[in-house]
Amino acid sequence: MLRLTTLALLACSTPLFAQEINVYSHRQPELIQPLVDAFTLETGINVNLAFVDKGMAERLQAEGDRSPADLVLTVDIARLLQIAEADVLQPVQSDVLEANIPAELRDPNDLWFGLTTRARIVYASKDRVQPGEVTTYEDLASDKWKGRLCTRSGLHDYNIALLGAVITHHDEAFATTWAEGLKANLARKPDGGDRDQVKAIAAGECDIALGNTYYMGQMLADPEQKAWADAVTIVFPTFEAGGTHLNISGVAMTKSAPNKENALKFMEWLSSDAAQQIYAETNYEFPVKPGVARSELVSSWGEFTPDSTPLADIAAARAAALKIMETVNFDG
Ligand code: FE
Repeated sequence: MLRLTTLALLACSTPLFAQEINVYSHRQPELIQPLVDAFTLETGINVNLAFVDKGMAERLQAEGDRSPADLVLTVDIARLLQIAEADVLQPVQSDVLEANIPAELRDPNDLWFGLTTRARIVYASKDRVQPGEVTTYEDLASDKWKGRLCTRSGLHDYNIALLGAVITHHDEAFATTWAEGLKANLARKPDGGDRDQVKAIAAGECDIALGNTYYMGQMLADPEQKAWADAVTIVFPTFEAGGTHLNISGVAMTKSAPNKENALKFMEWLSSDAAQQIYAETNYEFPVKPGVARSELVSSWGEFTPDSTPLADIAAARAAALKIMETVNFDG
């Protein structure tokens, strides 16, 4: 009897018959888990998530053909391109992905696919910032914000991409002056993540902060952080000759993917209505699939005009942007 039970247990748990895929995620596991759970429930395919904070491209290169990874989930256009350029990805041809994801949000060579977008906006103090006071990104470097601005490190991908957009709209000389102006306006040295800057607004240390949109949803959902969110409103700045700066999160298949077929199923599923709704409702991001609505909360932040600068141009300006942040010693 005992032996039978043991055998039965073994049969159930043996990985030989289990369908599974392995995902290296630069995104925080708690953001991805609701998607993984829904996919597994629907398909029976298990998704093993490994959180890879730094050096995704280097890790995949080092692992080579022996890499267990099928897919990579990450944020930021420059990072997606960096992984693509490291020659560790394979192109994926899929009618489903082509139908669900607008062409400007996927790689022309089919190496990566955008799954969500997010805007880099201004969190403004409800008490100390007047409606209409926040206008353009360019204006954030003006004297009127002296001692009133907080932001995370200038070297973080989110701020490098924003500075890349400044370069694209103007030139490197303008972007250098802009970064200097931004630094001169800081209420304190860059420290922590985007939410820490909103916390600093709530504490009265600064009046405005740069941050990504979805953090508003995350703060409101966290009892400890709700008071920070309640102290601010979201304002969508624009470029003088453009719209509000966007970036993306995306997925790509590794060159050595051992579970290619099921990995493709997960990629396609991530672009489906069901997954795009989870991204919208649980992660407070903007879905990429046409026809999938933003969450009610995200919609309540208002409409905005996305900047039309091609993401590839912003990624191409990354090296110059990094150099500028180092030259002006932004974090120092
Ligand atoms: Fe983030």
